[in-house]
Amino acid sequence: TPHDLDGDVALVTGASSGIGRATAKTLADAGAAVAVTARRTDRIETLAEEIEDEGGEALAITADVTETDDVERMIEQTREELGGLDVLVNNAGVMLLAPVIRADLEDLQQMLDVNLMGLMAATRKALPGMLEQDSGHIVNISSVAGRRANETSGGYAATKFGVNAFSESLRKETADSGVRVTVIEPGAVDTELGQHIPDEQVQERMAEMVQDMTVLQPEDIAAAIRYAVTQPPRVSVNELLVRPTDQQ
Ligand code: NDP
Repeated sequence: TPHDLDGDVALVTGASSGIGRATAKTLADAGAAVAVTARRTDRIETLAEEIEDEGGEALAITADVTETDDVERMIEQTREELGGLDVLVNNAGVMLLAPVIRADLEDLQQMLDVNLMGLMAATRKALPGMLEQDSGHIVNISSVAGRRANETSGGYAATKFGVNAFSESLRKETADSGVRVTVIEPGAVDTELGQHIPDEQVQERMAEMVQDMTVLQPEDIAAAIRYAVTQPPRVSVNELLVRPTDQQ
């Protein structure tokens, strides 16, 4: 049976765990050949093998999105080895929450570099080829934090507000070209994201908050992404906000 993304090539950043991993599997299931990228080579190689075992096509490319050379190489290698690039999912992200008074400048910089600069660099590199072929889809993973800032989320929310602004500007620039831009804004999802929170108090408070909820699974967000990228060309899903039902 034919699949919606047969013949398409997708690249997913941050594919070594959580939402990125689930998205890579889902897009492969929808028929796309998928480039899976992140820093942890062992994880993405295992994922690529899993996808291939299930009958899909996958390519693991080790890349740190804060390194311009890596970003350029991952996109070039995808085009060369998988034959194109139709869907770019900018998913790599870190959430190093802390109140401003205790925030580490290096953590703030890292969030900017990964969540915002990495996403903008990958988009910049992918765009010319998409414009040339008059089609393509850029999916940017933002957050509920891209719409509202809460205590301790200042630095993180700043990057996600930035993602939303960059994406909306890009959407307007590409509206006439057949290239589509989608922003995905997840609420709480069961992933490794919270485990890297450096501030112990914040880490504990987040863990408690999540325990009181039936949080989303990475596959729930992957399904939203699949929905956005499998619409007919006239349909541009601009923004999807997906929270756990019991998240306030
Ligand atoms: P995970 O921590 O499970 O995954 C994050 C991914 O980003 C990993 O694959 C990691 O791979 C990758 N990554 C981190 N730094 C870099 C880097 N410098 N270069 C390349 N890849 C990097 O978290 P999630 O799956 O939850 O996060 C995915 C996205 O979803 C993020 O943008 C996050 O902000 C967003 N999000 C998550 C929510 C949640 O509740 N979980 C809610 C809202 C948004 P590696 O370490 O191998 O490089």
